[in-house]
Amino acid sequence: MELLGALSPPWWLLPLLLLALLLRATRRSPWDPRKCPADLTGKTVIVTGANSGIGKCVAMELARRNARTILACRSPERGQEAVREIRAATGNPAVLLRLLDTGCMASVRAFAAAVLREEPRLDVLVNNAGVTGLPFAITSEGLEQTFATNYLGHFLLTNLLVELLKASAPARVVNVSSFRHSAGTADSGYLTGQRRPGGHDAAYNSTKLMNVLFTAELARRLQGTGVTANALSPGVVSTSIMRHFSRPVRVLFALLRPFMKSPQQGAASTIFCSISEEAEGISGKYFDSSCRLALPSELARDAALARKLWEASERLTGLTEQG
Ligand code: NAP
Repeated sequence: MELLGALSPPWWLLPLLLLALLLRATRRSPWDPRKCPADLTGKTVIVTGANSGIGKCVAMELARRNARTILACRSPERGQEAVREIRAATGNPAVLLRLLDTGCMASVRAFAAAVLREEPRLDVLVNNAGVTGLPFAITSEGLEQTFATNYLGHFLLTNLLVELLKASAPARVVNVSSFRHSAGTADSGYLTGQRRPGGHDAAYNSTKLMNVLFTAELARRLQGTGVTANALSPGVVSTSIMRHFSRPVRVLFALLRPFMKSPQQGAASTIFCSISEEAEGISGKYFDSSCRLALPSELARDAALARKLWEASERLTGLTEQG
């Protein structure tokens, strides 16, 4: 009761109002996808987690520009619904669904094998799928579910598709991270649940840090290949990302929704990294939600940490054994 009393208005209304105003002020990105002339005829793109939120808006924009657009989703129903919606809105018949659960390495391998078998090229890979607010849990493959879904699955997927990207160069890998990476820590023990990061929503923040570290090391390894890799923050976006949180957190999020970016506005930085002329040739960088080059956190810039995480991820996914 005392706690409820302490939380009663008006003291928390002021910070909430300030936060709302701040969110409102940063809703629109100065880079406007509508002014970008890129035409993707003859190009193939993959967007993971493309059946809702930011991923669906990104897929819609790439499909509108005539890309062969592969929606990589885990649910056949939600995926097909998105395919129908995007085909109807864009008139592009080359929008298709391939099933992918980024939290399951066997699913990632099956997805990548099908792409390598059936797709002659791959120009843009958007690693967007993500979850937050899930309880700590170990999957049947011995991986912690949030780390597997947000980071390790995308690490494996990118590595399995990298030769196809190289053969299609210039090509781009786009990793959807978050400004919250700066509250994360990186320890490969998190990937198997042997260790757990501490603090509120720490697993999510740490996966988003790993997305940035992965981007930096990937870009280093891809130098001279014509394939670039960049990470970005979409900002604070009104999507269904908070659905696994407790009711009070969801209520707070709902109060702020009118001030957040819409999914279309939140997709701008991902679209910028995927197709803009301005991002051409840039690699290993982090863009903020206004599509501006930004400095990620100090940990995210630690090249030795990035290399260590890469090597541990290779061992865990069995990539080293294949050479
Ligand atoms: P969203 O609407 O919940 O979309 C997430 C997408 O990821 C959904 O399509 C979801 O599919 C998919 N997904 C989740 N787990 C998956 C798995 N194991 N395999 C395949 N797909 C899976 O949330 P969003 O806000 O658009 O999030 C997109 C990305 O933006 C995430 O990486 C998130 O971390 C990042 N981001 C979002 C915000 C924000 O404020 N919204 C801020 C910073 C960063 P299902 O329908 O099957 O669950």
